[in-house]
Parts: sequence; C-alpha cells; structure tokens
Amino acid sequence: MVDIVVAIDGFSGTGKSSTAKKVARALGYTYIDSGAMYRCVAHYFINHQIDFDKEKEVTAALDKILISFQFNKMLNTSEILLNKKIMDYQIRRPEVDEIVSQIAAKPLIRKAMVDRQQKLGLGKKMVMDGRDIGTIVFPDAALKIFMTADLHIRSMRRHKELEQQGIQVNIEEIKRNLAKRDDLDANRSESPLIKAKDAISLDNTYLTLEDQVKKIVEIANKIIHEG
Ligand code: C5P
Repeated sequence: MVDIVVAIDGFSGTGKSSTAKKVARALGYTYIDSGAMYRCVAHYFINHQIDFDKEKEVTAALDKILISFQFNKMLNTSEILLNKKIMDYQIRRPEVDEIVSQIAAKPLIRKAMVDRQQKLGLGKKMVMDGRDIGTIVFPDAALKIFMTADLHIRSMRRHKELEQQGIQVNIEEIKRNLAKRDDLDANRSESPLIKAKDAISLDNTYLTLEDQVKKIVEIANKIIHEG
C-alpha cells in the first residue's frame, strides 16, 4: 500500500471541490481546497482595502494572513480558517468571485500560496483541488484528474448552489463570471490552468457527482493497493 496525493484541477464550477471532498472521504484522506486559500486572500484584501497592484501593500498583508485547515467531525471534512476564524459563505460571495482570479494571477501571491500548499501536502494522503495542483504544486502526484464541463451546465449548477444559500444572481451573470475566470486562469503568465500531460480528463457535463467520484476512487484505490 502506498500513500498518494490526488490532484484535481480544472475549470471554474466543474464541481472540483464537491468531488475532491467525497473522494477524500472515501479514501480516508485529507481534503485541501486550494481555491479557498486564494478566496481567503481576496476576502482579506476586500476587508482591509488592500490594493493588489501595490507589491509592498501585498507583501505586508500576506504576512498578516494565516491560513489553516481543521477537520470538522460533524461535517466529516476539513474547513478553512483565516486568522483562526472559520471561513465559509464569506469567501464564496460574488464580490470575492469578482476579484479572486486577478489576485490569483499575481506572482507574489501565487508563490506564497504554492509554498503553503506544498507544506500541507508533505504528509501525503491528501486530495487537493485547484488549477495548478498537478502541474506546479504537486507535479509528482500519483493521480491527476483534469475536470471540464459545458459552460451552461456549470452556470446552472452554480446558480442552484447560490440559490440554496439565499443569494440571487442572474444565470447570465454567473456565466460571465465563470468564463472570465477561466480566461484569466488559462491565460495568465504564472502557472496557467492547463492539463498536466499525465492527467486523466474527466468531462462531467452528463455525469452525476456520484458517478465521477466512483470513477476517481476506483483509479486511486488501484494505485494505492497495486503501487
Ligand atoms: O476553486 P475556486 O473556484 O474556489 O478558486 C477561486 C479562484 O482561485 C479561481 O478562479 C482561480 O483564479 C484561483 N485558483 C488558482 N489556483 C488554484 C486554485 C484556485 O489560481 N490552485
């Protein structure tokens, strides 16, 4: 039996987090949401009016940002903490959606987050989702998945999710934001969103969450047990 890192990358709104969370549960692994780390930075920058184009301001702010994860037994998954406060809906609001990809494109911020992510993964037995996990953060991950799905379907799923949280946003607005984030992520100079050569593509436009989790868990178990 070997301990592995499962890297799940892909476009915005493809259900990476929901999938990664369930895969981690099934394997008994730790789940780390790397996007939530960039979201915490964006949330902090909004609250403290940090100008992300000013390097000195950004460096000073990063020094004050402590990001950690803790396992929540009731939810049966890990949750993210920003300066010791649990973050959830605060980092998922539209204002954060609007600037997070611009923040994540800044080399200074990426470097800081990638360093922290690599340290978190040292113990292995981890499922991490994001945009550059299989290419930059853990290029040696034993299992890499690259998720895609039709933009309209992704927008409808995100709309439903926000509605359940009591947030009303127009579907066209969601579609615009997802497309904009995909574009920024795929075309930035620093660790752009691309499929790692050895990643397995998974288009989930017509797949249920359960089906895709099952597929990933099967592949992961094969690697874990057969090496
Ligand atoms: O995964 P999620 O959509 O929550 O991530 C928020 C944003 O953070 C993404 O739109 C992307 O711009 C950025 N991100 C990134 N690299 C990662 C994870 C997220 O650039 N590994």
